[in-house]
Amino acid sequence: MSRVAYVNGRYGPKADAAVHIEDRGYQFADAVYEVWGVSDGRLMDYEGHMARLERSLDALHITRPMSRAALTHVLRETVRRNRVRDGLVYLQISRGTAARDHAFPSADVPPSVVVTAKSVDRAKQEAGAARGISVVTRPDIRWGRCDIKTVGLLPNILAKQDAIEAGAADAWLVDDMGTITEGTASNAWIVDQDGVIRTRDTQANILHGITRAAILTIAAEQGLKLEERGFTPDEVKRAREAFYTNASGFATPVVAIDRVAIGNGKPGPVAQRLRELYLQRAEQAAI
Ligand code: PLP
Repeated sequence: MSRVAYVNGRYGPKADAAVHIEDRGYQFADAVYEVWGVSDGRLMDYEGHMARLERSLDALHITRPMSRAALTHVLRETVRRNRVRDGLVYLQISRGTAARDHAFPSADVPPSVVVTAKSVDRAKQEAGAARGISVVTRPDIRWGRCDIKTVGLLPNILAKQDAIEAGAADAWLVDDMGTITEGTASNAWIVDQDGVIRTRDTQANILHGITRAAILTIAAEQGLKLEERGFTPDEVKRAREAFYTNASGFATPVVAIDRVAIGNGKPGPVAQRLRELYLQRAEQAAI
């Protein structure tokens, strides 16, 4: 549970933490966010997430609220004050608070910064990964800049809720060409019939996952066959394995899509091995 939140320069009880009703994140989803995994109180894939945060801010012309060093201090301090050993730290930066107007406010309006941190039960998480999850496919109705990590997640949450109501854990989103883009909060992968590990290329309208990049590096080092090439729901049904990647789930097996079992319907060896290798590496490199 997150007890302490950082909001615009102050740490305080999360229950009382608040931003202004005219915060542009609240009114327009004019805000970006990042999520770091926390291992033994340290930030996982620190550099990748920080670099993507800066790219997201720059893409939207939101001023960087403070130096990298200062922001890193706030992230770590929020983790420390919440006594998180294993878990997640969440950062949101909006364009700030101003009278409601679509146009950007004047340049002297400071961005709003919010940081929270929460613990995750790793044993429970491992048990979940050992079972794998089911997904359903849903149309990808998002905007054209999914490479920017904005808080504008309405299509994602609608698809996720739809998936839950259909008895699955997540939705894999399908573009107009019938190819899967990604999950609602994760990148999508298969090990195809020929044993090739595949995930959508970053020319497509997807988030450039930091865990995705780490898994690509690890798979290449292991000499595994890799292709950054999309796949259809039918290809997932014929695949040997499937899995998703993100900062909170690392690499997690997907065992069914649209109620059809993938492979033998159990977590596959490639996904499980990549998860182990990712965790070893990311835990060691955490700062
Ligand atoms: N794709 C989407 C839409 C996401 O929201 C996320 C993470 O939240 C990812 C992919 C995976 O990104 P990362 O590995 O950097 O957590």
